[in-house]
Parts: sequence; C-alpha cells; structure tokens
Amino acid sequence: MVTPADIRKGLEDDQFYAQYQPKISCVNGALVGFEALMRWNHPDHGLVPPDSFIGCAENSGLIDDLTQKMFDLSFDWFGQHFGQSPIRLSINISARSRLDDGFIDNISQRCKRCGLTPGQLIFELTETSAMEDPVASLDLLTRMRMKGMHLSIDDLGTGFSSLLQLVRLPFSELKVDKSFVMTAANSSESRQVVQAIVGLGRSLGIQSTAEGVEDEDTLRFLRDIGCNFAQGFHIARPLSAEDAAQWSSKGVY
Ligand code: C2E
Ligand code: CA
Ligand code: CA
Repeated sequence: MVTPADIRKGLEDDQFYAQYQPKISCVNGALVGFEALMRWNHPDHGLVPPDSFIGCAENSGLIDDLTQKMFDLSFDWFGQHFGQSPIRLSINISARSRLDDGFIDNISQRCKRCGLTPGQLIFELTETSAMEDPVASLDLLTRMRMKGMHLSIDDLGTGFSSLLQLVRLPFSELKVDKSFVMTAANSSESRQVVQAIVGLGRSLGIQSTAEGVEDEDTLRFLRDIGCNFAQGFHIARPLSAEDAAQWSSKGVY
C-alpha cells in the first residue's frame, strides 16, 4: 500500500523517472509523437506501476508535485531531441491538479526554456476526470487551447458521459481506450465501439488515436476505418529516454 509519505520521500530522493511510448501514423507508420508515462523505482517495493500511486497522489494533494516532476523530466529530454519539430509530446494530467493560470504560465515558460513550442504539447485528460467538473474543465481547456496547446480525451468509452457535454469541450484528439482496441481482433463488439468513436471524431473534425494496439491485424483494421494514430506494444513498449530517442532515428515503424 502506497502512502503519501512514500510519495513525498520518492520525490525528494528522485525515485521517479519517465518512459516514452512512441505513437505513429496509421497511414504510413511515421513517428508522430511520444506519450510520457511516469515510473517509480521504489527502494523496497521495486517498480511500482502508476495505477498504484496516481490515485493516492490525487487524494493527498501531491498530484501537482508529480505533474511538475513529469514536466522536469520530460521537457528537457523532449526539447533536446525534438524541439521545433513536428513531433509531439503527450503528458497525462489529472483534473484534480490545481489547473490555474499559474499552471499554464509555468508550461509556457518551460517551453521557452526548453526550445519547444506549446503546439508540440498534448495534454491528456481522462474522460471521467474531464467530466467531474465540466464547467471548470471548459474554462481551463479553453485557456490552454488559446495558448496553442493540444488537448486529448483519454480512455474514451470507459465513462458514461453525456456526449453533448463532452463534445463541447475543446479537445483536439480522442483517445480510444485500450480495453476496446486490445480486444478488437477477436470481438466484433469491440470493433464496432472503436469504429463508432473514430467516426464521432471524424464528424467533429477531431483526430483519433487508438492505444493498446497489440497486433498487426488491429493496426490494419484501424487504418481501414480511418483512425489517425496508433500506440501499443505491437509498435513499441514504453521506452527509456535513451531508447526512445534511438527509436525515433528510424523514423517509421
Ligand atoms: P494511460 O494514460 O491510459 O496510459 C496507457 C497505459 O497503457 C500505460 O500504462 C501503457 O504502458 C499501457 N499500454 C500501452 N500500450 C499497451 C498495449 O499495447 N497493451 C497493454 N496491455 N497496455 C499498453 P501505465 O504506464 O501503467 O500507466 C497507467 C496509467 O497511469 C496511465 O494510463 C495514466 O492514466 C496514468 N499515468 C501514467 N503516468 C502518469 C503521469 O505522469 N501523470 C498522471 N496524472 N497519470 C499518469
Ligand atoms: Ca494517457
Ligand atoms: Ca488511456
């Protein structure tokens, strides 16, 4: 069981690091970006998965510190290898964070320092988290969009949101949840859900990404239904900073 004190200690002792999972174009396999994923190397428990500590951080007010830590880790790395390029960096944010003007200014300043343009950043907010307080989300997301940052709705299909409220939020990407994508090869229901979400995106002029692509058949299916981007173990697992930079040098999957 992770405690807030463990997380605090982990932050002090630099036990957190980032991995980067490549994201490619479904059309031609070209690298389009990376998703940064937090990792915790705990001295007693070994590698602790994010699902075991993000919730605790959210409930104890430590999520802001973890988000800032992720910015520290990923912006420098990304600026160094991909600054001023068409490649984008996706970062997960929690709606429980204090997402105020200070948060947005902080990102803008970090972009300048690291040689990035705000348009290279995609912030992923889960469907459930965005809908917890849609009015506050709308305000924050609109201000982020006005700075040129991109917003993605993560784990789409897992909540039971009002579609009308959802489509009013200024997202520029829909991310189909991996539970549907991982089962698409064997389940016609899953394929229908994936196709419906991609179709919704297209009709709203929003690009779609499928996460959890674990085989070539699924990648082909995604291409056939017009999904824009893909991410998953079949393409690449989350990689260390060094390996991700190296992976990018091959350019296409
Ligand atoms: P997510 O944002 O939905 O991230 C995708 C998760 O799916 C990652 O798990 C990734 O390793 C995994 N994944 C990617 N491709 C495949 C695949 O083909 N098959 C399977 N089975 N899994 C795949 P991970 O890294 O354990 O992260 C879990 C969740 O923790 C993330 O889900 C995200 O919600 C959260 N998280 C991770 N890093 C951060 C962070 O820095 N901040 C916040 N707020 N949340 C984070
Ligand atoms: Ca995500
Ligand atoms: Ca997801």
